[in-house]
Amino acid sequence: MEFKKCARCGCFFVSSNNVCCNCETKDKQDIYNLNNYIVNSTSTPSIDNLSANTGVSIKNISRFIQNNVISNF
Ligand SMILES: [Zn+2]
Repeated sequence: MEFKKCARCGCFFVSSNNVCCNCETKDKQDIYNLNNYIVNSTSTPSIDNLSANTGVSIKNISRFIQNNVISNF
């Protein structure tokens, strides 16, 4: 068993994910909101724009982009 540090809240947990189980739910909601916003945009929004319109922090958006969980980005 290996302890990991949650990429979102910083707590330690045991899982194969990058975030703890509490943050997994929040991540899913954020990803849903971001994808929803991107799909409804006429052009690809900037990260600043995405953050301002979805309320998701730039730090989390950058992590989602790295993990390839946001579409068309
Ligand atoms: Zn967490």
